[in-house]
Amino acid sequence: MTQYYLGSRSLGRLHKLHPSMAACVALAITFTEIDFSVSETVRSKERQHELFYGTPKKTWTLDSKHLIQDDGFSHAVDLIPLLGGQAAWDKCQVVSDAMFKAAGILGIKIRWGGDWNQNGSSKDEHQRGSYDGPHFELLQA
Ligand SMILES: [Zn+2]
Repeated sequence: MTQYYLGSRSLGRLHKLHPSMAACVALAITFTEIDFSVSETVRSKERQHELFYGTPKKTWTLDSKHLIQDDGFSHAVDLIPLLGGQAAWDKCQVVSDAMFKAAGILGIKIRWGGDWNQNGSSKDEHQRGSYDGPHFELLQA
């Protein structure tokens, strides 16, 4: 089994991510079956507004967990699955499996943007157009 490591750019992006979530990402990369990189963690209010009011609309909320929360940290991270160094958008489920395994070990609760209502399927998210495969957020540290 190939061992993957977070590159320096990915590690740098863990800055201001909630420590439990950062630990979850760091643990997940040690047993993921596919390489992934950290795309986005902290988002400014301005950027969230752009994504919300922009065309195409890139988010459905102005109250994103990517914004700095009351505890001073972002609670959300976007992880891009990589195959041969290229983004593999159909492999988000594989990253999700590694993230949930890591969350279980750490004893934290997370939610995946590919299964917002946590019914174990991405089918309804695809139907509603709310599927956000790279997105993970902290529910309980
Ligand atoms: Zn996100």
